[in-house]
Amino acid sequence: MPDHYIDLHTHSTASDGIYAPSELLRRAKALGLRVLALTDHDTTDGLDEAAQAAAQLDIDFIPGIEINTDVSGGEVHVLGYFLEYQRPAFQEKIKVLRDARERRGQRMVELLNEHGVNVAWERVRELAQGAVGRPHVAKALLEAGYIQTIGEAFDKYIGAGRFAYVPRYRMTPEDAVRLIASANGLPVLAHPIDLPGLAELRNSLPSLCAAGMVGLETYYGPYRAADEQALLALAKQYHLIPTGGTDFHGPGLHPTPLGGRFVPHEAVERLKAEAAKRRGLTPPPFELPPPVEEK
Ligand code: AMP
Ligand code: FE
Ligand code: FE
Ligand code: ZN
Repeated sequence: MPDHYIDLHTHSTASDGIYAPSELLRRAKALGLRVLALTDHDTTDGLDEAAQAAAQLDIDFIPGIEINTDVSGGEVHVLGYFLEYQRPAFQEKIKVLRDARERRGQRMVELLNEHGVNVAWERVRELAQGAVGRPHVAKALLEAGYIQTIGEAFDKYIGAGRFAYVPRYRMTPEDAVRLIASANGLPVLAHPIDLPGLAELRNSLPSLCAAGMVGLETYYGPYRAADEQALLALAKQYHLIPTGGTDFHGPGLHPTPLGGRFVPHEAVERLKAEAAKRRGLTPPPFELPPPVEEK
């Protein structure tokens, strides 16, 4: 068994990943992975296919999700593990988020068009097989020859503060934590050094923990020893489970290859123990904040 055999942060075609859930699992198996979580943005639509493939391949599969929120000056992403995703009340809410992603995508295309950048919403919608995201708009820009790399799309057009940027459905990071907890899932703060950043993290941890956060993504793709140490200390202080993964979206999209990050098995054990405590319990209720009137 290779020493890297766990990946708790991956994406599929259900959101902005390149591989279908079953293809992702096949690749994980070929690399020698034993534990994999699928964490698509605002959707659980890839989880059944992934779980089925994992069962055939004898991979320990963890159902997951990733919910992105905007905060002043940046973003905060919250992962959710072992959620009881079939719960209708939960599905209704993430559908609201996905519908908002459609309108946001359309609005970004409108803004691009108004500035003479000609990409078609129909093409963006085609490129997104599931939940629409900025990476799909970026791909359409790449196809149309406006940019040479996906990163350029964010720098020039759709990154925060650029002319075609449109904010997402307005929800706080605490709301994302509560939304995941409302399906008996385990909320874990994703890539905390990138978003929100270490200083901001120290400020926001008390309220995130009060909302029900249980983990901190510590062994994240590119994080080095010093990052890891800082996050481990915070995890200890706030009694959070240090988790990890690569944020694999497909070759070349994020720097770390599938399974290319050491994650200790203790992370999996602790998540499982915490999930077992919640299974079957009536989850805490949660309502999405009302949508902001669109201009
Ligand atoms: P969205 O959720 O639609 O706002 O899209 C955010 C997603 O875009 C993230 O989850 C990343 O996968 C991707 N992303 C964000 N910033 C960049 C960037 N600078 N270069 C490439 N991909 C990015
Ligand atoms: Fe993504
Ligand atoms: Fe993320
Ligand atoms: Zn991710």
